[in-house]
Amino acid sequence: MPPPLPPDAKCTRCRSQATIRLPNHHMNFCPDCFTHFFQTAVHRAMKKYGISRATPLLVAVSGGKDSLALWNVLNQLGHVTRGLHISLGIDDFSEASTAAVDRFAQERSLPWTQYSLKEIFGYDLMEIKRRSRRRICSLCGLLKRQMLNRLTIKEGFQVLVTGHNLDDEAGRLLGNLVYHRSEHLRKQSPFLPTPHGKMPIRFKPLYRLDAQEVRNYCSLQGIHSLEAACPLSRGATSHIFQEALNLLEREMPGTKRQLLYGYLERHPASPSTIPFVPCTICGEPTYEDTCSVCNLRRHLEKNSAKE
Ligand code: AMP
Ligand code: ZN
Repeated sequence: MPPPLPPDAKCTRCRSQATIRLPNHHMNFCPDCFTHFFQTAVHRAMKKYGISRATPLLVAVSGGKDSLALWNVLNQLGHVTRGLHISLGIDDFSEASTAAVDRFAQERSLPWTQYSLKEIFGYDLMEIKRRSRRRICSLCGLLKRQMLNRLTIKEGFQVLVTGHNLDDEAGRLLGNLVYHRSEHLRKQSPFLPTPHGKMPIRFKPLYRLDAQEVRNYCSLQGIHSLEAACPLSRGATSHIFQEALNLLEREMPGTKRQLLYGYLERHPASPSTIPFVPCTICGEPTYEDTCSVCNLRRHLEKNSAKE
């Protein structure tokens, strides 16, 4: 949390009483001007990557602050959207996530579709955790990525937008650099064009806004997101990299932006040159004979036989 503002602080934009401090930008805002700042950051991101209001957007909504803020701001900016939520089956956490999406959508009369991981993949996350020793966060990440891609096309959309913010993107970049993950670094971009007709464009319109800015926006807009963190993700390395960047940010405001924007300017995303082939099991595009989703399902089936 940034330190509180002095009582006589003025809004950088309109000179009225400021209530929100943005030390990383050396700016303070009143509530209306902060909302304008937030909307402008998203609008600029859309413009930079050529996404017009005419393009229908499928918004992946988890029920957390980022994806609900994203859905809200896209509607304020006049984009046509539909929400897509996957219920992952992580006990009470997933129930509360779905309830947060439902409440948000109902309050604003926004359309959305819900799927359950069990129904689309065959196993929910708790079952996957029981059957596999692999790191659950990376399995969950893989399934969310693949399923969101597939469902976007199934729902008739070409563009999938997710709520990843500046902290997520900078933290991911730091992790990829530390471990020299060149395949991941190649795809480190807020905008990934479609590599195949059966895969959507993926875009992260909040990549210029940090977690605290998203929190401020949610509280000003009356967005009741799920506060709880996923119970399976405690100690995840992605959180540790974000913490490390928060430490740097406190000492040197602007570090996160410096890291991410500097990297993006120098390293535009480059598409893979490996040709896609259809998965021999499910027909989805993949680089190998069988896709990562079918491979994971087979691994889980095998492990159930051992139980
Ligand atoms: P996470 O992987 O939890 O950091 O979430 C990153 C983004 O992925 C979120 O901002 C959402 O856009 C999307 N997302 C995460 N979980 C879900 C879910 N269960 N259903 C739909 N979208 C999700
Ligand atoms: Zn497959």
